[in-house]
Amino acid sequence: MTAQILDGKHVAQLTEASLTERVAALKAQSNGRTPVLATILVGDDPASATYVKMKANACKRIGMESMAIELPSSTRTNDLLAQIEALNHNPDVHGILLQHPVPSHIDERAAFDMIALNKDVDGVTCLGFGRMSMGESAYGCATPQGIMRLLEHYAINLEGKHAVVVGRSPILGKPMAMMLLQANATVTICHSRTVDLPRHIEQADVVVGAVGRPEFIRAEWIKEGAVVVDAGYHPGGVGDIELGPLADRASAITPVPGGVGPMTINTLIQQTVESGEKALRASN
Ligand code: NAP
Repeated sequence: MTAQILDGKHVAQLTEASLTERVAALKAQSNGRTPVLATILVGDDPASATYVKMKANACKRIGMESMAIELPSSTRTNDLLAQIEALNHNPDVHGILLQHPVPSHIDERAAFDMIALNKDVDGVTCLGFGRMSMGESAYGCATPQGIMRLLEHYAINLEGKHAVVVGRSPILGKPMAMMLLQANATVTICHSRTVDLPRHIEQADVVVGAVGRPEFIRAEWIKEGAVVVDAGYHPGGVGDIELGPLADRASAITPVPGGVGPMTINTLIQQTVESGEKALRASN
């Protein structure tokens, strides 16, 4: 069996083409206004700065604007909350991205939860998570939502399938599990205290690796014909799953790079365009 490649780069490019048209149409109807994504970067972590830049570049590619807010690492929680509150009230801003992680002295959860639901285009608030989990409308958390969009694009059937998610972080594992549940998969969530991880993984029809350790999930644990989704990305171009031997054993795999990564940013900008459309059409 040759695994189907779930090509996130390709799907992101297709989506960007349609988003470019949507932004142009909105601009024509709204006196030149476009959706605007505000990005907040706290501190000087070079990887975070690169991610924020990539997000601003994606906005530019589809013709929408972004607003970069850079705060020093000495920023206190209250200052950050005030900044977010100001963006919540700014009618020119349609989406707010707070780059994770913020410096450890800041209460990141409080900061995420300050983001207004209608501007939570990265899907990081407890309210958005709760609504999504209950099947109510909310913007999905960008990485797992991007994975769901990728699976949908390739018509991967999830109903009744046993999905095993390895990782339970607030921005990845937990929302991923809830989205798979919403799609009628039977879901197991594994984490660092899980006993006998290989035994869980070998039962999976769908495996999602969101562990943060290079090639931690071994190919031999994964059963033939499984759908393999790797959210990880590490130096040397490897993910959280040992993908090499799965190319002719899995039914589908996300490549690293070019699988999940491009879908994350793409989902963020797609959700910002949706938010911009709602706000600008309502004000016309
Ligand atoms: P994280 O916050 O560090 O969470 C890692 C999760 O893995 C935790 O839930 C942890 O369990 C679990 N874990 C750690 N060791 C384990 C073990 N031995 N057995 C089973 N589970 C274990 O990481 P994250 O932010 O979710 O990111 C996960 C991966 O996705 C990373 O590789 C990251 O680079 C990648 N990522 C990619 C994107 C993208 O856009 N492509 C975005 C975000 C993250 P506990 O909860 O018990 O500690």
